[in-house]
Amino acid sequence: RVKERGRGSYGFYQPQMNANLLSRMKLEHAMRQALGEQRMAVHYQPRVNLATGRIVGAEALIRWTDPEFGVVSPTQFVPLAEESGYIVTLGAWVMEQAVREAAQWMREGMPIVVSVNVSALEFRQADFVKRLTRLLAVHQLPPTLLELELTETILLQDAQEMELRLFSLAALGVGLAIDDFGTGYSSLAYLKKLPIDKLKIDQSFVRGLPEDDGDRAIVSAIVSMGHALHIEVVAEGVETVGQRAMLQQLQCGHFQGFLCSPGLPGAEFRQLLFNSSHGLAQFAPVK
Ligand code: C2E
Ligand code: MG
Ligand code: MG
Ligand code: MG
Repeated sequence: RVKERGRGSYGFYQPQMNANLLSRMKLEHAMRQALGEQRMAVHYQPRVNLATGRIVGAEALIRWTDPEFGVVSPTQFVPLAEESGYIVTLGAWVMEQAVREAAQWMREGMPIVVSVNVSALEFRQADFVKRLTRLLAVHQLPPTLLELELTETILLQDAQEMELRLFSLAALGVGLAIDDFGTGYSSLAYLKKLPIDKLKIDQSFVRGLPEDDGDRAIVSAIVSMGHALHIEVVAEGVETVGQRAMLQQLQCGHFQGFLCSPGLPGAEFRQLLFNSSHGLAQFAPVK
């Protein structure tokens, strides 16, 4: 990003711009190679039912470890991929891994709902629903075991077209979740007219629990609204026992967070799922 204009200089500060542009181009290039070189992976973060302590779902999260750049965070490369359009390729790959693994776990007697983050550009592809339908059929995954995590911004552009798309996905049985809920700028009107199954409370509202009155009020309001509209509510980014206890008190349905586990490689997640089929001991219902 070009911000500085040195005193006495005219125009942009060139070397800085070139350095930034160059590193972005290098990162983009490395990202495009990473997929073919098997440096990308999909990890799964458990989603836990607060009342039963059971793992009921998982969120698929992309991971990239590069020989030159080390571990690159998706907060860094996903926006880059969104800008260049490469997210369509990347997202299709994540979707395929997630659907394949979810179908495998189901066949092993551990049916859970796997959620996949979908960027606006992916969701806006004209053949998105068609390709997803085919993928589910190929892997024989019941659509009810797949959920899409969308952000509010997806609902803002081309509202009518996106609305149709949401209804055809819902008719198929695919779950629809609003990610980072509460951080967008959209109105709440869509909640009563669109087939939304789940709200994921953004971690910025969970962080201040249990002490912060403002965060508690916001979480409480989202949970009440969810109950009234028959929409499930999940709290993201739960790190402490105190946060979890408060969420339970506020009757939030589910949580994800480091308190339970970060995203794990498929094989490790499968093992955790298998070992905890009767609920995670540390999250047994509080009497
Ligand atoms: P998100 O979908 O809101 O995912 C939640 C993020 O919070 C993940 O970061 C997760 O690792 C992190 N997290 C989970 N529990 C905790 C916790 O207790 N404390 C803290 N501090 N963080 C926690 P991650 O994996 O770095 O992903 C960041 C964002 O990148 C995601 O936010 C999502 O928007 C995007 N992303 C990740 N994977 C994909 C993907 O496959 N496709 C697309 N389109 N976007 C993705
Ligand atoms: Mg998400
Ligand atoms: Mg989120
Ligand atoms: Mg997000």
